[in-house]
Amino acid sequence: MSEPYSLLILPGDGIGPEVMAEVVKVIDWFQANRGLNFDVSHDLVGGAAYDAHGVPLADDTMARAQAADAVLLGAVGGPKYDQLDFSVKPERGLLRLRKEMDLFANLRPAQCFDALADFSSLKRDVVAGLDILIVRELTSGVYFGEPRGIHSDDNNPENEGGRVGINTQRYTSGEIRRVARAAFELAKRRGNKVCSMEKANVMESGILWREEVQWVHDNEYPDVELTHMYADNGAMQLVRRPQQFDVIVTDNLFGDILSDAAAMLTGSLGMLPSASLGAPMANGRPKALYEPVHGSAPDIAGQGKANPIACILSFAMALRYSFDQGDAAAELEQAVEKVLADGVRTPDLMGAQGGIQVSTAQMGDKIIAALAGG
Ligand code: NAD
Repeated sequence: MSEPYSLLILPGDGIGPEVMAEVVKVIDWFQANRGLNFDVSHDLVGGAAYDAHGVPLADDTMARAQAADAVLLGAVGGPKYDQLDFSVKPERGLLRLRKEMDLFANLRPAQCFDALADFSSLKRDVVAGLDILIVRELTSGVYFGEPRGIHSDDNNPENEGGRVGINTQRYTSGEIRRVARAAFELAKRRGNKVCSMEKANVMESGILWREEVQWVHDNEYPDVELTHMYADNGAMQLVRRPQQFDVIVTDNLFGDILSDAAAMLTGSLGMLPSASLGAPMANGRPKALYEPVHGSAPDIAGQGKANPIACILSFAMALRYSFDQGDAAAELEQAVEKVLADGVRTPDLMGAQGGIQVSTAQMGDKIIAALAGG
């Protein structure tokens, strides 16, 4: 048995509990068959927490999240909560987790399973076998910089409408260095290549970004290959020849856009995992929250139609990045690959080619069977 890893599970709302039930099967399988030892606890977030406690994340849950080796979240939100005050909306629970855990590095893999290559909007030969990781700075930059706001611009008679909108792109060297370190650490466990993207040609914050990433490389990670690219060229290269990348590190704004574009290279929302990492804790593991990219999908909730793979692959990321169980993560990803290659499909994956349609629970069972060598 390995040492116990503490894992807090927050299923949330809508399809969250349905997809998380399949992850729990996977966790149980690894405990029973691979000697991994998880100390799993469950709690509420989002609308479910609001219903129980009147807040989208109770203080006690927040404290448990801070203490856990990793948090695994399903999804939050739904029409039932749309009229709530902004301060208690389900999404505030998720934002509180990200903020108080100071999760500054957002990881979005774009991995194309061969069996789903035809789901991509790009040609099969451009995306087949694709496996890249975008690391986006998540807690600073233009979404947070001051000054910000919409002001009157009355003293400027040439400004028709008389208003001005302001946001500030601001990065400290420390903020850049810590996310660069996260990217280099991740690259060491993958293809050992980092491409940093900014707009150093037109933005001073981009010049600082480039210099600081280079500094971290030269002083701490000289053995990892580092290249720099302007973010607009990066967007073009992502759709032209995405296979050239391994890890991409970029700021909050560019990362928001580039990670969405990269995600769509691979097809369905039901396939996309993510992770958000913070500073290392006393045990050396980073604070970590793993979650599928998709939301609570109220249109299909409770019908057994949800694809659990995004959530299962989020757990695979936890195995790799929080628990140093890269072999187990690869084994799980290969099981997913096999099931897809066998033509097993939840409804969202039933494209023109058809396949064997299964429910959420049946997809989980097929993945367990593939893990077991079936
Ligand atoms: P959504 O991601 O929930 O759904 C978009 C579409 O994709 C829907 O048609 C849905 O059926 C489908 N889909 C999503 N996940 C799927 C899966 N696993 N399997 C099969 N199909 C899937 O986005 P939305 O409809 O814009 O938002 C619904 C609710 O979720 C809202 O309350 C929104 O605020 C919330 N939301 C939460 C998160 C989160 O928890 N991280 C993210 C996005 C949206």
